[in-house]
Amino acid sequence: MIMSEEIRAPRLPEKKPAKKWVKRSPRKGGGGIPNRDPFVRFAEKWKESENKFNGSYCYIWHGALQSKGYGCFAYGGRSKSWLAHKWAFVFIGEKEIPEDFTIDHLCRNRRCVNHLHMEAVTQKENTLRGNSIVAQNARATHCCEGHPFEGNNLLLRKDGRRICKTCHSARRRASEQRQHDRRIRKSLCPQCGKNPPDEGFSRCNHCREVNRNYMNDYNKRRRQVSTARKDRIDP
Ligand SMILES: [Zn+2]
Ligand SMILES: [Zn+2]
Ligand SMILES: [Zn+2]
Repeated sequence: MIMSEEIRAPRLPEKKPAKKWVKRSPRKGGGGIPNRDPFVRFAEKWKESENKFNGSYCYIWHGALQSKGYGCFAYGGRSKSWLAHKWAFVFIGEKEIPEDFTIDHLCRNRRCVNHLHMEAVTQKENTLRGNSIVAQNARATHCCEGHPFEGNNLLLRKDGRRICKTCHSARRRASEQRQHDRRIRKSLCPQCGKNPPDEGFSRCNHCREVNRNYMNDYNKRRRQVSTARKDRIDP
């Protein structure tokens, strides 16, 4: 497949402040067992919407919703509840959900309980089909700055995530620069950030000695290599 069109990875949103914990009143009483016919109860809780998908309308759930916006339906005993779309898939659609599979809304409407709009897929497939950041990243051929995820520019993390080398090293360089500036501002040695720098020098005494030893070693090794090379050329 030839990727002619450039699909960029999404820019990450800025971090929001953490939500404050809201204390809720304790639940009153226990849930009774609804003894009416579940199909009748279920039918009372949805209404047809104007949104059409694949030749049939979305059935919007008007009962309780859980935290992620999916419908809840009491079924299976005292205080037991099902996800409404899952119940519709199993009992109205009379289809099975294989193990480790979840239900994907093909119409992209979480409140829809029309079993014709659903398909059982693996968790991974469901994530990649959606419009989440993970899914957008998986489809991207270029990073958010437009560098290709290819060849030398591609770094693979252990978990399989792709990283743009250009952006990655730019970010690291910027972070090192920030650390450097921070240390200078606090009038500390920019190399170790622990001691104040020597008078008339930018680094502290300790770092200067470390650097001196390193350069001495480096020069010694270079001299050894060049003499070895000379010996090889004219013995
Ligand atoms: Zn639907
Ligand atoms: Zn990039
Ligand atoms: Zn230092």
